[in-house]
Amino acid sequence: MQHRRQRSKVALSQKIAIPADHPRAKSLYTREKLVDGFKKGLVVPEGLIAHGRGEAFDYLLGEKTTVHARKAIKAAAALLLLSDHPVLSINGNAAALCPKEAVQLSEVTGAGLEVNLFYRTEERESAIKAELEKHGAKKVLGVGPRASARIPELQSERRRVDPEGIFMADTVFVPLEDGDRTEALVKMGKKVITVDLNPRSRTAMAAHITIVDNLVRAMPALIEQARMLKGRDRKSLARIVNRFNNKKNLAQSLKIIRSKA
Ligand code: ATP
Ligand code: MG
Repeated sequence: MQHRRQRSKVALSQKIAIPADHPRAKSLYTREKLVDGFKKGLVVPEGLIAHGRGEAFDYLLGEKTTVHARKAIKAAAALLLLSDHPVLSINGNAAALCPKEAVQLSEVTGAGLEVNLFYRTEERESAIKAELEKHGAKKVLGVGPRASARIPELQSERRRVDPEGIFMADTVFVPLEDGDRTEALVKMGKKVITVDLNPRSRTAMAAHITIVDNLVRAMPALIEQARMLKGRDRKSLARIVNRFNNKKNLAQSLKIIRSKA
């Protein structure tokens, strides 16, 4: 069964066959997903490079979800469930790597789904919206004229957001985000959750909850946690969030990386 599942993964790319027993099979498969996303117009070339930066940190983290990442995932799930108006911000890499999981997470937590791009074009926005809809999304925010509100302090197309989405959100989940946009969201008073393999990035340090893990592992774990915590009373969810210390958590992830580097 396991073997058959791995075989079907191989079929994703027509270009190369990734042997299931290759020591870097998972990492190669993730790359292929991004390359496919690039060909489908979801991912920009800069997104491929950004992924490479992430891979380097993942290598040093042992390419597994650490105990510290698990704590951050639990706090993130609790915060999403506690929020009145959570929004998941989806960029090209996130849409290529985990469209199904993005839709599932939005369903479990009641969060909105918003397309939010660093390099914004109408074609790419629409391609990402279509990808999310293909995986079951009923409403996708932030596309075309919907993105009419502005994040203060940011220039040009990068600051456009949906007035019904990120603009009015109390909590924004921004996986693989750029530092100054994260900082601007924090300054707007949003609670910010991110997934970033680099514990020293500006995003990782500015966010309230940083999951130092690969997005492809963090998303299924986050969905599972949200399912487990759903139904808990607000007091117990708040306790989980309040006990979490992002600065300490980042230092612990950095310690692992330092021990390997
Ligand atoms: P910052 O702007 O926050 O200082 P940066 O400029 O170093 O960060 P960006 O290109 O803006 O990096 O954002 C990409 C970030 O996403 C990097 O920190 C990279 O480590 C991380 N990243 C890339 N791919 C993944 C992935 N699959 N899972 C988790 N993190 C990833
Ligand atoms: Mg950056």
